[in-house]
Amino acid sequence: MTTASIIDGKEVAAGLRARIAARVATLPFTPGLRVVRVGDDPASGVYVRNKDKAAKQAGLDSATLQLPETTTEAELLAVVRQLNDDPAVDAILVQLPLPRQIRAETVLETIDPAKDVDGFHAVNAGRLATGQAGLVPCTPKGVMHLLAAAGTAIAGARAVVLGRSNIVGKPMAALLLAADATVTVVHSRTRDLASECRRAEILVAAVGRPEMVKGDWIAEGATVIDVGINRLPDGRLVGDVDFAAASQRAAAITPVPGGVGPMTIACLIENTVDAAVARRG
Ligand code: NDP
Repeated sequence: MTTASIIDGKEVAAGLRARIAARVATLPFTPGLRVVRVGDDPASGVYVRNKDKAAKQAGLDSATLQLPETTTEAELLAVVRQLNDDPAVDAILVQLPLPRQIRAETVLETIDPAKDVDGFHAVNAGRLATGQAGLVPCTPKGVMHLLAAAGTAIAGARAVVLGRSNIVGKPMAALLLAADATVTVVHSRTRDLASECRRAEILVAAVGRPEMVKGDWIAEGATVIDVGINRLPDGRLVGDVDFAAASQRAAAITPVPGGVGPMTIACLIENTVDAAVARRG
Protein backbone atom coordinates (compact mmCIF):
# COMPACT_ATOMS: atom_id res chain seq x y z
CA MET A 1 0.00 0.00 0.00
CA THR A 2 1.29 3.42 -0.92
CA THR A 3 0.20 6.89 0.12
CA ALA A 4 0.10 9.12 -2.90
CA SER A 5 1.96 12.36 -3.20
CA ILE A 6 -0.37 15.25 -3.95
CA ILE A 7 0.11 17.07 -7.25
CA ASP A 8 -0.44 20.68 -6.25
CA GLY A 9 -2.16 22.39 -9.18
CA LYS A 10 -2.21 25.76 -7.45
CA GLU A 11 1.56 25.74 -7.08
CA VAL A 12 2.23 24.47 -10.62
CA ALA A 13 -0.21 27.04 -12.04
CA ALA A 14 1.40 29.87 -10.06
CA GLY A 15 4.81 28.89 -11.44
CA LEU A 16 3.47 28.76 -15.00
CA ARG A 17 1.73 32.14 -14.62
CA ALA A 18 4.93 33.72 -13.30
CA ARG A 19 6.90 32.35 -16.29
CA ILE A 20 4.27 33.69 -18.69
CA ALA A 21 4.27 37.13 -17.01
CA ALA A 22 8.06 37.27 -17.41
CA ARG A 23 7.67 36.36 -21.10
CA VAL A 24 4.95 38.98 -21.63
CA ALA A 25 7.22 41.63 -20.12
CA THR A 26 9.78 40.99 -22.89
CA LEU A 27 7.27 41.31 -25.78
CA PRO A 28 7.14 44.49 -27.87
CA PHE A 29 3.29 44.36 -27.75
CA THR A 30 0.56 43.53 -25.23
CA PRO A 31 -1.37 40.35 -26.05
CA GLY A 32 -5.12 40.99 -26.10
CA LEU A 33 -7.74 38.57 -24.73
CA ARG A 34 -11.50 39.06 -25.07
CA VAL A 35 -13.94 36.86 -23.19
CA VAL A 36 -17.53 37.01 -24.44
CA ARG A 37 -20.22 36.09 -21.95
CA VAL A 38 -23.89 35.80 -22.84
CA GLY A 39 -26.37 35.91 -19.95
CA ASP A 40 -25.43 35.48 -16.32
CA ASP A 41 -24.94 31.79 -15.52
CA PRO A 42 -23.60 32.17 -11.93
CA ALA A 43 -21.03 29.34 -12.13
CA SER A 44 -19.40 30.75 -15.24
CA GLY A 45 -19.48 34.27 -13.70
CA VAL A 46 -16.93 33.29 -11.05
CA TYR A 47 -14.83 31.55 -13.68
CA VAL A 48 -14.88 34.55 -16.05
CA ARG A 49 -13.84 36.93 -13.25
CA ASN A 50 -10.95 34.62 -12.27
CA LYS A 51 -9.79 34.44 -15.90
CA ASP A 52 -9.83 38.22 -16.21
CA LYS A 53 -7.92 38.72 -12.96
CA ALA A 54 -5.24 36.16 -13.83
CA ALA A 55 -4.86 37.57 -17.36
CA LYS A 56 -4.37 41.11 -16.04
CA GLN A 57 -1.87 39.87 -13.44
CA ALA A 58 0.14 38.30 -16.28
CA GLY A 59 0.24 41.67 -18.05
CA LEU A 60 -2.34 40.96 -20.75
CA ASP A 61 -4.86 43.40 -22.17
CA SER A 62 -7.95 41.50 -20.99
CA ALA A 63 -11.62 42.47 -21.11
CA THR A 64 -14.96 40.72 -20.80
CA LEU A 65 -17.83 41.60 -23.15
CA GLN A 66 -21.07 40.96 -21.31
CA LEU A 67 -24.08 40.43 -23.59
CA PRO A 68 -27.71 40.04 -22.46
CA GLU A 69 -29.37 36.60 -22.08
CA THR A 70 -31.68 37.52 -24.99
CA THR A 71 -28.80 37.98 -27.49
CA THR A 72 -29.58 36.27 -30.80
CA GLU A 73 -27.16 33.99 -32.62
CA ALA A 74 -26.77 36.58 -35.40
CA GLU A 75 -25.89 39.27 -32.85
CA LEU A 76 -23.29 37.06 -31.18
CA LEU A 77 -21.78 36.07 -34.55
CA ALA A 78 -21.47 39.79 -35.41
CA VAL A 79 -19.54 40.39 -32.17
CA VAL A 80 -17.24 37.44 -32.89
CA ARG A 81 -16.56 38.70 -36.45
CA GLN A 82 -15.74 42.16 -35.11
CA LEU A 83 -13.21 40.61 -32.71
CA ASN A 84 -11.78 38.48 -35.56
CA ASP A 85 -11.11 41.71 -37.47
CA ASP A 86 -9.70 43.70 -34.53
CA PRO A 87 -5.88 43.74 -34.78
CA ALA A 88 -5.50 44.43 -31.03
CA VAL A 89 -7.29 41.16 -30.20
CA ASP A 90 -5.15 38.00 -30.24
CA ALA A 91 -7.45 35.62 -28.40
CA ILE A 92 -11.23 35.16 -28.30
CA LEU A 93 -13.07 33.00 -25.80
CA VAL A 94 -16.83 32.58 -25.91
CA GLN A 95 -17.86 31.32 -22.49
CA LEU A 96 -20.02 28.17 -22.52
CA PRO A 97 -22.79 27.31 -21.85
CA LEU A 98 -24.69 29.63 -24.20
CA PRO A 99 -28.45 30.34 -24.00
CA ARG A 100 -30.72 27.92 -25.86
CA GLN A 101 -31.36 30.18 -28.89
CA ILE A 102 -27.66 30.09 -29.83
CA ARG A 103 -25.90 27.08 -31.39
CA ALA A 104 -22.51 26.81 -29.67
CA GLU A 105 -21.00 24.88 -32.60
CA THR A 106 -21.83 27.66 -35.09
CA VAL A 107 -20.29 30.26 -32.79
CA LEU A 108 -17.12 28.25 -32.15
CA GLU A 109 -16.64 27.64 -35.88
CA THR A 110 -16.93 31.40 -36.55
CA ILE A 111 -13.95 32.27 -34.33
CA ASP A 112 -10.77 32.83 -36.37
CA PRO A 113 -8.72 29.63 -35.69
CA ALA A 114 -5.64 31.84 -35.10
CA LYS A 115 -7.52 33.53 -32.21
CA ASP A 116 -9.31 30.40 -30.94
CA VAL A 117 -7.73 30.40 -27.49
CA ASP A 118 -9.88 27.49 -26.27
CA GLY A 119 -8.72 25.33 -29.19
CA PHE A 120 -12.28 24.14 -29.88
CA HIS A 121 -12.42 25.09 -33.59
CA ALA A 122 -12.35 22.07 -35.94
CA VAL A 123 -9.16 23.44 -37.54
CA ASN A 124 -7.34 23.36 -34.21
CA ALA A 125 -8.83 19.97 -33.31
CA GLY A 126 -7.63 18.69 -36.70
CA ARG A 127 -4.16 20.12 -36.18
CA LEU A 128 -3.92 18.38 -32.80
CA ALA A 129 -5.11 15.10 -34.31
CA THR A 130 -2.56 15.30 -37.14
CA GLY A 131 0.37 16.49 -35.02
CA GLN A 132 0.54 20.05 -36.39
CA ALA A 133 1.12 23.14 -34.28
CA GLY A 134 -2.11 24.85 -33.22
CA LEU A 135 -4.03 26.05 -30.19
CA VAL A 136 -4.68 23.18 -27.76
CA PRO A 137 -7.67 23.06 -25.35
CA CYS A 138 -6.64 24.50 -22.00
CA THR A 139 -7.74 21.75 -19.61
CA PRO A 140 -5.92 18.82 -21.27
CA LYS A 141 -2.92 21.07 -21.86
CA GLY A 142 -2.92 21.81 -18.12
CA VAL A 143 -2.98 18.08 -17.39
CA MET A 144 0.17 17.61 -19.47
CA HIS A 145 1.89 20.32 -17.39
CA LEU A 146 0.80 18.52 -14.19
CA LEU A 147 2.18 15.19 -15.41
CA ALA A 148 5.48 16.89 -16.20
CA ALA A 149 5.52 18.55 -12.77
CA ALA A 150 4.84 15.19 -11.10
CA GLY A 151 7.74 13.63 -13.02
CA THR A 152 5.43 10.98 -14.51
CA ALA A 153 7.03 9.12 -17.42
CA ILE A 154 4.58 9.23 -20.34
CA ALA A 155 6.41 7.59 -23.26
CA GLY A 156 5.45 3.93 -23.38
CA ALA A 157 3.10 4.22 -20.38
CA ARG A 158 -0.41 2.74 -20.44
CA ALA A 159 -2.73 5.76 -20.17
CA VAL A 160 -6.49 5.52 -19.76
CA VAL A 161 -8.70 8.56 -20.39
CA LEU A 162 -12.15 8.28 -18.86
CA GLY A 163 -14.50 10.48 -20.95
CA ARG A 164 -14.53 11.38 -24.64
CA SER A 165 -15.84 14.94 -24.83
CA ASN A 166 -14.47 17.31 -27.47
CA ILE A 167 -13.21 19.70 -24.80
CA VAL A 168 -11.44 17.28 -22.46
CA GLY A 169 -11.38 13.55 -23.26
CA LYS A 170 -10.55 13.57 -26.99
CA PRO A 171 -7.84 16.25 -26.91
CA MET A 172 -6.43 14.63 -23.76
CA ALA A 173 -6.09 11.32 -25.58
CA ALA A 174 -4.46 13.08 -28.56
CA LEU A 175 -1.90 14.83 -26.33
CA LEU A 176 -0.99 11.63 -24.49
CA LEU A 177 -0.68 9.78 -27.80
CA ALA A 178 1.56 12.56 -29.15
CA ALA A 179 3.70 12.09 -26.05
CA ASP A 180 4.03 8.36 -26.92
CA ALA A 181 1.71 6.86 -24.31
CA THR A 182 -0.35 3.79 -25.18
CA VAL A 183 -3.80 5.34 -24.89
CA THR A 184 -7.20 3.81 -24.18
CA VAL A 185 -10.31 5.99 -24.12
CA VAL A 186 -13.24 4.69 -22.07
CA HIS A 187 -16.78 6.07 -21.89
CA SER A 188 -20.40 5.32 -21.02
CA ARG A 189 -20.60 2.37 -23.44
CA THR A 190 -17.38 0.72 -22.23
CA ARG A 191 -18.12 -2.80 -20.92
CA ASP A 192 -15.91 -3.09 -17.86
CA LEU A 193 -14.71 0.33 -16.76
CA ALA A 194 -13.11 -0.87 -13.54
CA SER A 195 -10.79 -3.36 -15.20
CA GLU A 196 -9.89 -0.92 -18.00
CA CYS A 197 -8.97 1.71 -15.39
CA ARG A 198 -7.03 -0.81 -13.31
CA ARG A 199 -4.61 -1.27 -16.22
CA ALA A 200 -3.72 2.41 -16.25
CA GLU A 201 -0.31 3.68 -15.21
CA ILE A 202 -1.74 7.13 -15.94
CA LEU A 203 -5.47 7.60 -15.33
CA VAL A 204 -7.21 10.83 -16.37
CA ALA A 205 -10.84 11.01 -15.21
CA ALA A 206 -13.06 13.54 -17.02
CA VAL A 207 -16.54 12.15 -16.66
CA GLY A 208 -18.53 14.56 -14.44
CA ARG A 209 -19.79 11.88 -11.99
CA PRO A 210 -18.95 12.50 -8.31
CA GLU A 211 -16.40 9.98 -6.97
CA MET A 212 -17.32 7.39 -9.61
CA VAL A 213 -13.77 6.02 -9.78
CA LYS A 214 -13.32 3.79 -6.74
CA GLY A 215 -10.09 3.00 -4.92
CA ASP A 216 -9.92 -0.53 -6.30
CA TRP A 217 -10.06 0.82 -9.90
CA ILE A 218 -6.59 2.29 -9.34
CA ALA A 219 -3.40 0.34 -10.05
CA GLU A 220 -0.75 0.44 -7.32
CA GLY A 221 1.68 3.22 -8.22
CA ALA A 222 -0.49 4.92 -10.85
CA THR A 223 -0.61 8.66 -11.47
CA VAL A 224 -4.22 9.83 -11.17
CA ILE A 225 -5.43 13.12 -12.64
CA ASP A 226 -8.97 14.08 -11.66
CA VAL A 227 -10.50 16.64 -14.04
CA GLY A 228 -14.01 16.35 -12.60
CA ILE A 229 -15.62 19.21 -10.70
CA ASN A 230 -18.86 18.11 -9.06
CA ARG A 231 -20.91 20.03 -6.50
CA LEU A 232 -22.64 17.72 -3.98
CA PRO A 233 -26.06 18.59 -2.49
CA ASP A 234 -24.30 19.49 0.79
CA GLY A 235 -22.22 22.09 -1.10
CA ARG A 236 -18.93 20.15 -1.10
CA LEU A 237 -16.87 20.11 -4.28
CA VAL A 238 -15.56 16.67 -5.28
CA GLY A 239 -13.89 15.16 -8.29
CA ASP A 240 -14.68 12.07 -10.37
CA VAL A 241 -12.32 9.97 -8.23
CA ASP A 242 -12.81 8.76 -4.65
CA PHE A 243 -9.77 10.72 -3.50
CA ALA A 244 -9.31 9.15 -0.04
CA ALA A 245 -9.41 5.57 -1.34
CA ALA A 246 -7.41 6.27 -4.51
CA SER A 247 -4.67 7.98 -2.47
CA GLN A 248 -3.99 4.64 -0.77
CA ARG A 249 -2.97 3.06 -4.07
CA ALA A 250 -1.80 5.80 -6.44
CA ALA A 251 1.77 7.13 -6.43
CA ALA A 252 0.56 10.65 -7.24
CA ILE A 253 -2.88 12.23 -7.44
CA THR A 254 -4.48 15.63 -8.01
CA PRO A 255 -6.91 17.00 -5.40
CA VAL A 256 -10.28 18.63 -6.20
CA PRO A 257 -10.28 21.57 -5.83
CA GLY A 258 -6.69 22.71 -6.31
CA GLY A 259 -5.61 20.25 -9.00
CA VAL A 260 -6.56 20.64 -12.66
CA GLY A 261 -8.82 23.70 -12.14
CA PRO A 262 -6.06 26.30 -11.59
CA MET A 263 -4.13 24.89 -14.58
CA THR A 264 -6.98 25.60 -17.00
CA ILE A 265 -6.75 29.35 -16.39
CA ALA A 266 -2.94 29.35 -16.51
CA CYS A 267 -3.08 27.56 -19.88
CA LEU A 268 -5.63 30.05 -21.18
CA ILE A 269 -3.08 32.78 -20.53
CA GLU A 270 -0.32 30.69 -22.09
CA ASN A 271 -2.47 30.12 -25.19
CA THR A 272 -3.22 33.86 -25.45
CA VAL A 273 0.49 34.66 -25.48
CA ASP A 274 1.24 31.84 -27.95
CA ALA A 275 -1.55 33.07 -30.25
CA ALA A 276 -0.26 36.65 -30.05
CA VAL A 277 3.32 35.64 -30.83
CA ALA A 278 2.24 33.39 -33.73
CA ARG A 279 0.00 36.09 -35.22
CA ARG A 280 2.23 39.12 -34.73
CA GLY A 281 5.48 37.27 -35.44
P1 NDP B 1 -19.07 15.79 -20.78
O1 NDP B 1 -20.35 15.59 -20.04
O2 NDP B 1 -19.05 16.54 -22.04
O3 NDP B 1 -18.41 14.35 -21.06
C1 NDP B 1 -18.41 13.35 -20.09
C2 NDP B 1 -17.84 12.08 -20.65
O4 NDP B 1 -17.91 11.09 -19.63
C3 NDP B 1 -18.58 11.54 -21.87
O5 NDP B 1 -17.65 11.09 -22.82
C4 NDP B 1 -19.41 10.39 -21.30
O6 NDP B 1 -19.52 9.27 -22.14
C5 NDP B 1 -18.59 9.95 -20.13
N1 NDP B 1 -19.46 9.38 -19.09
C6 NDP B 1 -20.53 9.96 -18.50
N2 NDP B 1 -21.08 9.12 -17.60
C7 NDP B 1 -20.36 8.00 -17.64
C8 NDP B 1 -20.42 6.77 -16.94
N3 NDP B 1 -21.36 6.53 -16.01
N4 NDP B 1 -19.50 5.82 -17.24
C9 NDP B 1 -18.56 6.05 -18.16
N5 NDP B 1 -18.43 7.20 -18.84
C10 NDP B 1 -19.33 8.16 -18.58
O7 NDP B 1 -18.08 16.44 -19.70
P2 NDP B 1 -16.72 17.27 -19.90
O8 NDP B 1 -15.72 16.46 -20.62
O9 NDP B 1 -17.03 18.62 -20.36
O10 NDP B 1 -16.28 17.43 -18.36
C11 NDP B 1 -15.99 16.30 -17.56
C12 NDP B 1 -15.78 16.76 -16.13
O11 NDP B 1 -14.66 17.64 -16.10
C13 NDP B 1 -16.93 17.55 -15.52
O12 NDP B 1 -16.98 17.26 -14.13
C14 NDP B 1 -16.51 19.00 -15.70
O13 NDP B 1 -17.07 19.84 -14.71
C15 NDP B 1 -15.03 18.89 -15.52
N6 NDP B 1 -14.26 19.94 -16.19
C16 NDP B 1 -13.28 20.54 -15.45
C17 NDP B 1 -12.49 21.50 -16.01
C18 NDP B 1 -11.41 22.10 -15.18
O14 NDP B 1 -10.96 23.19 -15.47
N7 NDP B 1 -10.92 21.38 -14.16
C19 NDP B 1 -12.70 21.98 -17.38
C20 NDP B 1 -13.69 21.21 -18.11
C21 NDP B 1 -14.44 20.24 -17.50
P3 NDP B 1 -20.37 9.28 -23.54
O15 NDP B 1 -19.53 10.08 -24.49
O16 NDP B 1 -20.44 7.85 -23.89
O17 NDP B 1 -21.67 9.93 -23.21
